[in-house]
Parts: sequence; C-alpha cells; structure tokens
Amino acid sequence: MSHHFDPFRSAATGWIFHCDADAFYASCHMAENQELAGHPLVVAGDPKARHGIIVTASYPARQCGIRTGMRLDDAWDLCPDLVAIKPDKDLYRRYSAAMHAVFVRHSQIVEPLSLDEAWLDMSPHLSFTMDPLPVAQELQEAVARDVGIFVSIGISVNKMLAKQVSDWSKPHGVTLLRAQELPARLWPRPVSDLFGCGPSSAQKLAAMGIGTIGHLAALPLPEVLERFGQHGLALYMRARGEDNTPVTVPRREDRRSVSAEHTTERDIVDREDAGALLRQCASEVSHRLQSLCMVGYRIAIKWRTREFVTFGRQMRVTEPLIQTEDIYRAARTLWNQRAEVRPVRLLGITVSALDGLPRQLHFWP
Ligand SMILES: [Mg+2]
Repeated sequence: MSHHFDPFRSAATGWIFHCDADAFYASCHMAENQELAGHPLVVAGDPKARHGIIVTASYPARQCGIRTGMRLDDAWDLCPDLVAIKPDKDLYRRYSAAMHAVFVRHSQIVEPLSLDEAWLDMSPHLSFTMDPLPVAQELQEAVARDVGIFVSIGISVNKMLAKQVSDWSKPHGVTLLRAQELPARLWPRPVSDLFGCGPSSAQKLAAMGIGTIGHLAALPLPEVLERFGQHGLALYMRARGEDNTPVTVPRREDRRSVSAEHTTERDIVDREDAGALLRQCASEVSHRLQSLCMVGYRIAIKWRTREFVTFGRQMRVTEPLIQTEDIYRAARTLWNQRAEVRPVRLLGITVSALDGLPRQLHFWP
C-alpha cells in the first residue's frame, strides 16, 4: 500500500467510507437466482467432489457452523440440505462492476480494494460535523436495490480506521468510529484484530506481553522500530489511528481499445469452431472492459488465413458493448458478412470508441 503514501498530504476533512459486500460470492448467486435466497449455500472449489474446499458461506450456512476453508463433506455433515455452487468469476466481476457503478454515484473519489471492497472519500459531501449515518444507509439501500446484494460500511476519519471497523457489525451493518472513540472502542480489542496483523506478528507481540491494540499504540516508537521494522511501524500507526493516505481513484489507463485474439494449430473451417473462438475472445474483451469500468461503441474483428493474409471488418454500434453476449453477437454479425471464406488460423475481436460506464447501464434483464 506504499504507493498511496504521501507525507505532505493534509488529513481528511470529512468522512471516509469502507464498503465491503457481505458474503460476496454467495450473495451474487442468491441475487442471480432468487430461489436460493435465505438458503444455506456455499461456494466451493469443486462441488461434485466431496472434498471441495469452501470459499464463501452464506449467512444461513454460517449459522449452521459452516466456515470458509472447511471441506464440503464436513459441511454436509453439519447441514444436510446445504447447496454447493462452483465459483463463477464472470458473475462476480459483473456484480462487482454494478456495485462500483453505485459507488461512483455517491462519490467522485472511489478506490477499489478488491472485487467486493472499496473506499469512498465522502469529504466533499460530508464534513466531520455532519451525520454520515443516513448517507451510509442510503448507499446500502441503493446497492441492495440496484445490485441485489448487501454491503457493510465502516465510517471513520481515514482509510485504515474505516477498513478496520467495516466488519464490526456484519452483515448489513454500519459502524461509525470517531477519532475520540479510539481509547474506548479500538484499543481494548486484541492486537490480532488489527488489519495486517497476521498470526506470526500477533505471536511476536504476545511474546512481548502485548495483547491489545492499545498496548501496541502505547509502546515507544523506537522500540517498535527496533523489534518489528517497517511492518511494525505500519501496525503501530494503525493502532494509533494515524493514516493520511488519500483515497486514490485508480488511474484509468489511457486506452483507446481492448482486444483479444487467438491462433489455432489447425485450420478453422467449421462454423461452430469459429463461433467458439469468437465467444472466447468476446468473453476476454468483456472482462477487460469490466475491470476498466468502460464500454465501447465500435467493434472490429480480424482473421488471418493459413497463408498469413489478414482481413478485418468493423462497425459502430449504438448500444454500449461490455457484456460477453453483446460483443459476441456483434462479432458474429461481422463474421457472417465476410466475403473471404478461406480457412483461418487466427481470430480476434477489438472493441474501441471507449467511454466510462453509463450511469444507468442495465446489467441484467
Ligand atoms: Mg466482503
């Protein structure tokens, strides 16, 4: 996280939100398939094999004692009517992009931390003297309404504290931690609760007689540096609630286009083979557009014959291209229009005329 470090930046003047989706993978499947809602459900590496490992458990599954990292057969012993689903990265990216679209409606300054987490700098809208709770609740409702999943929100005066408290009242919780509340609410907690404090750091600290976050915060700085070096310093600053790193909007790469192409060992003559290859390209282009939070309004395909002659066709479209299915359909149209019908060895798709995500992009019917 050092690339965010800016020692000359002044502290935030308003509230920072850390938003974290509740049981994200499981929630995506439940939002996609209403029949699963409220059901004990897990996402597991290989649901057909009983030894698959659980990646995420829905809250009803957690109530049966099922945890991330557990083996499926152990989970089935605890809960015989448990539903196990295999991970679907496309689905998660789609929901992540939709969630991000809601975030950027609430703040201009959004920094994604992972597929299901982001910081929002609310300073331009909410000073320290204003009550951030109604705004956080409105944001939760907007995500639930537009995306169909729940987020928990941590609110504090900087990024690290907001991240620290976002899971204090999961699921569907909002936790507000004011700077003056650190001694009462943060410091009594075990040091292992500190973001970035793994089991080995916690063990080392325990060996020094340091059990709580408050203990660590009260240590003399030279001692922390001597014993723990750089990592210790980071933990120490977090324990003291000191963090001036800005919420940073990822620099949008100055991209003009996104493409994917595939070559094959053998000639492609068959319509179905060509279709499968175009679909593969469309899916890769779709992922890249989603991770860039961009859509495109021009599509091109290219193909190369066995004799290394390259051809191409392109067209403009009026509906924004971002979903695999739309990109595939447009590419297929271009492919069907070609006059050149020699067997090919390479197929590719490029989407250009890129633009940011439209505010009201419908991701699902
Ligand atoms: Mg989460």
